[in-house]
Amino acid sequence: MHTFEFIRPTDSAAAIATAAQSKTAQQGADVRFMGGGTTLIDLMKLNVETPTRVLDINRLPLDKIEVMPDGGMKIGATARNSDLAYHTKVQRDYSVLSQAILQGASAQIRNMATVAGNLLQRTRCVYFRDTAMPCNKREPGTGCPAITGHNRTLAILGTSEHCIATNPSDMCIALAALEVTIHIQGPKGTRAVAFGDFHVLPSNRPERETVLEPGDLITHVTLPPPISGSKQFYLKLRDRASYEFALASAAVVLTISSSKITRARIALGGVGTKPWRSPEAEAALTGEPANDATFRQAAEAALRGAKPQSENRFKIELAKRCLTHALRLAAAS
Ligand SMILES: Cc1cc2nc3c(=O)[nH]c(=O)nc-3n(C[C@H](O)[C@H](O)[C@H](O)COP(=O)(O)OP(=O)(O)OC[C@H]3O[C@@H](n4cnc5c(N)ncnc54)[C@H](O)[C@@H]3O)c2cc1C
Ligand code: SF4
Repeated sequence: MHTFEFIRPTDSAAAIATAAQSKTAQQGADVRFMGGGTTLIDLMKLNVETPTRVLDINRLPLDKIEVMPDGGMKIGATARNSDLAYHTKVQRDYSVLSQAILQGASAQIRNMATVAGNLLQRTRCVYFRDTAMPCNKREPGTGCPAITGHNRTLAILGTSEHCIATNPSDMCIALAALEVTIHIQGPKGTRAVAFGDFHVLPSNRPERETVLEPGDLITHVTLPPPISGSKQFYLKLRDRASYEFALASAAVVLTISSSKITRARIALGGVGTKPWRSPEAEAALTGEPANDATFRQAAEAALRGAKPQSENRFKIELAKRCLTHALRLAAAS
């Protein structure tokens, strides 16, 4: 691993001012915040990330998980994934979030991993993690060997001719379905970004994954007040039962009244270049009877735009079955 300066700020403004000196907040950043370090340190050991300064933000007062007066929740950026998953109100009112987190990584990693770090975890594309190989995301303009190479686990939605890397997060899929807001403090002040606007598609700039600019510190995430009586489910399909990333997953938040679906929020994991909210599936469900025919139609709608590569065509049917079954299980819960 290259040499770098390790700094432990106790003041957010100082941390932001230091990070603002970085030339980018995306791939190639020379200053990085560190939460749990379970993504960052991994990638530094591989020389995929080579920051000259690492700002450990764990001394900043950003770890609280609070219930808000409107019934929603405020989750600090350094709150641990485990603390969030096991929070009583999260388990009761946002169970899809608890389920999604607990199906990710391992207990040890969830104990270290932070909410902001999980929002910014990087793809597991093997070429991205191997500096002997070209990769547009790691080194812009070098090419994308995955398109003609190993792409079994990569994305089928939101891809471009420059990158087909999957966003690997489980937590983010639930956050997409729950329509959370991400709060950022930067050199120019604070701002709030709707979850759906936070991650960007690879397009012709796959090295850019989010709207973050140099110095931007995620301070917290807010959950809107819970939808009374909603039925929630997170289903994750993967090659083995634990310690494995999703090949396909679905986060489902449904409201059903007199056997009809009155509200649906749907997001897919393991298949998109960003956490994949599906307005097409939501439209196909809303106002329809909660039965298998409707669920399958929604799954067909969600995957209509899928573009498979040489090894991952199977993901189209897998994702359809994943969403259909997640809807079935949510409706029956
Ligand atoms: C073996 C293994 C298996 C895994 N399996 C899964 C899985 O099945 N499902 C899954 O979803 N995840 C999985 N993960 C990924 C894991 O969830 C992430 O590594 C973790 O969530 C990252 O959180 P962190 O706090 O450790 O991030 P860090 O490594 O600390 O940071 C990640 C990125 O976020 C930036 N950052 C951190 N905090 C802030 C902030 N407040 N503001 C701005 N930028 C910030 C850092 O600069 C860095 O670029 C796995 C990881 C490993 C190592
Ligand atoms: S899919 Fe993206 S991350 Fe993977 S090799 Fe291609 S450009 Fe790199």
